[in-house]
Amino acid sequence: MRAVVYRGPFDVEVTEVPDATIEQPTDAVVRITTTNICGSDLHMYEGRTSVEEGTVFGHENMGVVEAVGGAVTRIKVGDRVSVPFNISCGTCRNCSQGWTSFCTSLNPTEGVDGAAYGYANMGPYPGGQAELLRVPFADVNLLELPPGSEHENDFTMLSDIFPTGWHGTVLARQQAGDDVVVFGAGPVGLMAAHSAMIRGAARVFVVDQHADRLALGGKIGATAIDLSAGDPVEQILDATDGRGTDCGVEAVGYQAHDAAGEEHPELVLDNLVKIVRTTGGIGVVGVYMPEDPGAATKDAQEGRIGFDYGTFFTKGQHMGTGQAPVKRYNRQLRDLIVAGRATPSFIVSHELALDEAVDGYKHFDDRDKGWTKVLLRPGA
Ligand code: NAD
Ligand code: ZN
Ligand code: ZN
Repeated sequence: MRAVVYRGPFDVEVTEVPDATIEQPTDAVVRITTTNICGSDLHMYEGRTSVEEGTVFGHENMGVVEAVGGAVTRIKVGDRVSVPFNISCGTCRNCSQGWTSFCTSLNPTEGVDGAAYGYANMGPYPGGQAELLRVPFADVNLLELPPGSEHENDFTMLSDIFPTGWHGTVLARQQAGDDVVVFGAGPVGLMAAHSAMIRGAARVFVVDQHADRLALGGKIGATAIDLSAGDPVEQILDATDGRGTDCGVEAVGYQAHDAAGEEHPELVLDNLVKIVRTTGGIGVVGVYMPEDPGAATKDAQEGRIGFDYGTFFTKGQHMGTGQAPVKRYNRQLRDLIVAGRATPSFIVSHELALDEAVDGYKHFDDRDKGWTKVLLRPGA
């Protein structure tokens, strides 16, 4: 089968790899209809992780079940499914409490709980930017979708970024009537803004410096804050009569940078501590790494990010972090899409054949104007 394979920094290739097959009786094999490129893939693409050469990328997958193992009872061949990016066993201590993003059984990497497809440090599971994907524990992991092809571009956001954006607002403990700030108008930030609106925010401010991405936020009723036009902290304090927002979501991650492009991994956390009101919440879904050899300072290379903890404490704020447990939200978000209450496809800018993935990576990584979310269609 054809697949997107990592060759080294800024180098992916679409090439032949062995077909995904049933390896365990609890597996399914899914024929991929849509698989997305994610900002998380870009950390690997840029050589800022320890991902191995030869890894098949792709953790945002959906498709049709091609085969099931003998122990799979709920999922059937022919089912249209969304595949959560977390691979979970369903029965360990964390899974049974709904924390499928921290499954203790499936990732052999020392010190890391939680497994995923095609991702650095997340276990030996090939990704789905390919024609076929092996899904372990299919009955636990797969979410059924209505048959056919309706809502394909909405449903494809259920594997990761729509639940991740939603999770950011849950970690921030957003309530109806809150003013919410979201840092990052990439796909995850825009999903957090969409989620905040659906969850009854009074106002949502979205911070970035890319006009095209900020304009998409405007489409769903968010207020754009352009950080290249001035300090976002001042802009938002002005807009809230100095009070700040009730909560905030971090959807940028450890490669946060200033308007001039210089990386400051603590920058967004510091801004959030300043903007969020006393006792307010901060949900961090942007990724931070325990090791980042490419970082500018020795501390940051060891994952030590010196943000303004003193003010954070003094303001009595709280913070939640980590990979999103997709299964906790994906059924409900699917039903919001079916009911017409959510349309996460509003961010889709490009739908490419799998063989065009090299180009897709390059443009999305350059944050080229208009490249907000890239979908790959292995069947096309
Ligand atoms: P992206 O790289 O496309 O978007 C990030 C955006 O942040 C860019 O538009 C960039 O201009 C902006 N940005 C950079 N510095 C900023 C600053 N100082 N202030 C405001 N905005 C700034 O990526 P994405 O796909 O939207 O993903 C965002 C982050 O979420 C990544 O770190 C990704 O790895 C992470 N992620 C986490 C989970 C999870 O489960 N927790 C899941 C998916 C993605
Ligand atoms: Zn993703
Ligand atoms: Zn588990």
